[in-house]
Amino acid sequence: MIPISLIRQYIFCPRIVYYNLLTNIKPIYPRQVSLGNEYHTLQDRLSKNRKFKKLNIKYDEFVLNKYIENKDLNICGIVDLAFLSKDEVTPIEFKFINTKKPSYSHILQLYAYGLLLSKKYEKNFNQAIISYSNNMKIFKININDKIKNDFLKVLKEIEKIVKNDILPNSSADQYKCSQCEYLNFCDDRF
Ligand code: SF4
Repeated sequence: MIPISLIRQYIFCPRIVYYNLLTNIKPIYPRQVSLGNEYHTLQDRLSKNRKFKKLNIKYDEFVLNKYIENKDLNICGIVDLAFLSKDEVTPIEFKFINTKKPSYSHILQLYAYGLLLSKKYEKNFNQAIISYSNNMKIFKININDKIKNDFLKVLKEIEKIVKNDILPNSSADQYKCSQCEYLNFCDDRF
């Protein structure tokens, strides 16, 4: 089953998918990753007592830090937080990043979580939320056909990498490679 975190990783560089799913390499993650994990733990703790008024969402209950998988879609992942109402599910992702607007890879990743939730709880899924750590900046994302189709394309490409079992080409530039935990294993890089 494909972890949803690899959707974002594939967009960053398809080789990360190969290293992650088809090798036993244990990468050494940069400090930013452990800071991100600590941030998630903190958000988990805070969310238990929050009222979420700022989000302006009507909901009956919420789920927190929940593992979900779907065998038909062949994806799995841990949802940070999701609001459930009678008819609808709205996922929210917390990101430890300062940014002015959501990246498309974050949007596709969030769509995948929403899709999982929608299948599990048999509810509609039309909207998702990303919360960035800079002053808890919040973005509401309306799910459209482009997001749905692009997600399916990425998923198919990831499945192709797994099926072919060949290190894919990468157009990652120096900036990307210099922050990548797999740099030591890409022999064609500086
Ligand atoms: S070092 Fe560069 S090419 Fe290799 S996996 Fe990382 S980003 Fe991709």
